[in-house]
This record gives sequence, structure tokens and C-alpha cells, in this order.
Amino acid sequence: MTAVNIGNLRVPRARVDTADRPDEAGLIDRFGRFGRDLRVSVTEKCSLRCTYCMPEEGLPAIPRRDLLTPAEIARLVGIGARDLGIREVRFTGGEPLMRADLAEILAATREAAPGVPMALTTNGIGLDRRLPALLAAGLDRVNISLDTVDREHFARLTRRDRLDAVLAGIAAARDAGLEPLKVNAVLMRETLGDAADLLAWAVDARVHLRFIEQMPLDADGVWSRESLVDAAELLAVLGTRFRLEPIGRDDPSSPAELWQVAGTAATVGIIASVTRSFCRDCDRTRLTAEGSVRSCLFGDDETPLAPLLRGGATDAAIADAWRAAMWGKQAGHGMERPTFQRPARSMGAIGG
Ligand code: SAM
Ligand code: SF4
Repeated sequence: MTAVNIGNLRVPRARVDTADRPDEAGLIDRFGRFGRDLRVSVTEKCSLRCTYCMPEEGLPAIPRRDLLTPAEIARLVGIGARDLGIREVRFTGGEPLMRADLAEILAATREAAPGVPMALTTNGIGLDRRLPALLAAGLDRVNISLDTVDREHFARLTRRDRLDAVLAGIAAARDAGLEPLKVNAVLMRETLGDAADLLAWAVDARVHLRFIEQMPLDADGVWSRESLVDAAELLAVLGTRFRLEPIGRDDPSSPAELWQVAGTAATVGIIASVTRSFCRDCDRTRLTAEGSVRSCLFGDDETPLAPLLRGGATDAAIADAWRAAMWGKQAGHGMERPTFQRPARSMGAIGG
């Protein structure tokens, strides 16, 4: 495998042998999975510095010329939808609201891929102000990240005192009628004691709360299996205050297992990304902010599409490069193996 410089990063460049690949239109991989759910990171910048994601000083800036433009993003999503079977696109980052031209990205994407639902994963800061333009540009759904409703704990975990701004973003999304409104919380030992309060808040706020096991994708590299808060431990904590009735998955490709919160209309989800890997059913394909295909969160090999986009390649040639990249997707994250190595990019540089 060779390497390529992408902005400040030196990442392995995928060299995928596609000789045995079936003549299949979609993004099939060797294990028979299809990439249908596209995550597009649009920036490395962020208004928070969550300890499980970003370094305190933020990620090294991607030179502006290396970031995909709205037209380039739209072209790629259009190719994905038309030629490769993409059924949904989610914009992420970094913090996607840090891109002043986010509404332009959405509008261009809607035009290039009219039938594809567009979602946003955001920390919610500034969403109240930006939402009207984003909705007008075609935004269909949002997921908002919130780990605790304790202001001090929030400030410590995100290294910013911005809880009120996040809550304002969530309220705006709910008032705009965005449904389902999902709130994602990363399970951290320091906020485990706040989990029941967070669920009580979510029941009250009528949002779908989903806890996510922390993955070894923090820029500081301090994740350890020993300190992981897993689904079982969370269920024990929530069980002291709520009666939870298992529902299962609402759809087989969804990573979240759901529980009904007895006596309420609410459900709570757990995404056990570490202890109950859903790699076998993974239907994701990712584009980094610089326009490289990343077939797996944990696979560092990337296929840059920007040189093709900017070098006059046809849609068919770009689709082909994307298909080849996905054919090389690894079987799973491999965290259970003693040889497991964290990827070079942290979560904020990939897009969750
Ligand atoms: N800034 C936006 C946000 O926070 O929602 C979008 C980007 S963020 C990288 C996407 C998602 O990844 C968030 O829900 C965040 O909580 C989650 N995330 C970040 N680091 C993680 C980690 N180490 N393990 C599990 N989830 C993580
Ligand atoms: Fe920013 Fe989202 Fe990472 Fe938190 S999880 S630092 S909000 S990119």
C-alpha cells in the first residue's frame, strides 16, 4: 500500500485488487455488504473540544483549497445516488455548522440527488439561528449530540461552557417539527452518573436518546478497553430509576438496540459499537472533507476522489474508483484482536 498526503495527514492510499469483483452496479464489498448510507464530513473545525474526539487545540486546519466545495460535494452525492445505490446522506464533521456555506451544500445536493434524504449530525450550537435556511435548502433530519445536562460536567467533557446553546439548538429542531429527533450521548465514565438525568430530560423533551459506547477514536489516544462503559453497565445504572423493556432493533441495519421506558411514550437506544459490533451489517460509506472515500471508520486506507473530480474525470470514472474503494472494505473494526491499531484519523477528522 502506498501513502498519500491529504492536507496535514499522511494516509495510506488504497490499492484494491478488483479482479474478482462481480459486475455489480452498487458499492458491494468482498463480504457481500452494500454501501448505501453515505456520511460526508464537511469540515474538521468544531465549536467544542469533546475529550473523546478532539485534541484541546483542535485538529490541524485543512487548507481551504483542499476542502470540497458545495458543487463538488453535490456531484459526488449525485453520482452515489444515481450510479451506486446511495439511499441517504448525512453531513457531519468536525462540526458541520462551522461551514458558513452549509445551506449551499444542502441546496446543491438536493438538486443533484433529489430523491435522497439529507440528514445532519451536529452538536447543535447555532442550529437555532441556522435552521430556517437549512430547512429551506432541503434538510430532512438532524441528530444532535449531548452527553449530559449537567452544566459543569458538560463544560468539562467538551472543554466549552456551551450547554445552553446546545439545548437551544435541540429546542429549535423540535419546534421545527424535525422527526425523529435523535440525541446521541457518548458513554463516558465521568458522566455515567448523569445518564438517568439525561434520560429523564429526553423523556420530557420528547427526543429519542441513544447512548453510544466510546470508540478508540479520540485524538488524545487515551481510550482504553478497561475504562469502557459498556451497554450492560449503562442498563444497570438506568435500571435504578427506570423500568426498561427491550424492544430490539427497529430495523435490521440500525445499530441501535431499543428499550421502551415503561410508563412513558419514550424509547432509549444503545449503540454498542464496541461490545456488540454491527460490522457484519454495516451499510456505510464515507467521504472525508477532502473528498477521499473511507470504506470503514477503522480502516485507514483512503481513496482520494478529489484529483478525479478536479482533473476532468467522468462521472463513470469517479463511480468506478468509489466502487473499487468499497470492494476493499475490511471485515470489521478488529478491536477484539491483540494486533488492533487505532486509525491515524480521530473521529472529528473522519466524521461520526
Ligand atoms: N460535531 C458533530 C457532533 O458532535 O454531532 C458531528 C461530528 S461528531 C464526530 C459525530 C458523532 O460522533 C457525535 O455523535 C459524537 O458524539 C460521536 N463521537 C465522537 N467521538 C466518538 C468516540 N470516540 N466514540 C463514539 N462516538 C464518538
Ligand atoms: Fe466537535 Fe462533534 Fe467531535 Fe464534539 S464530537 S469535538 S462536537 S466534532
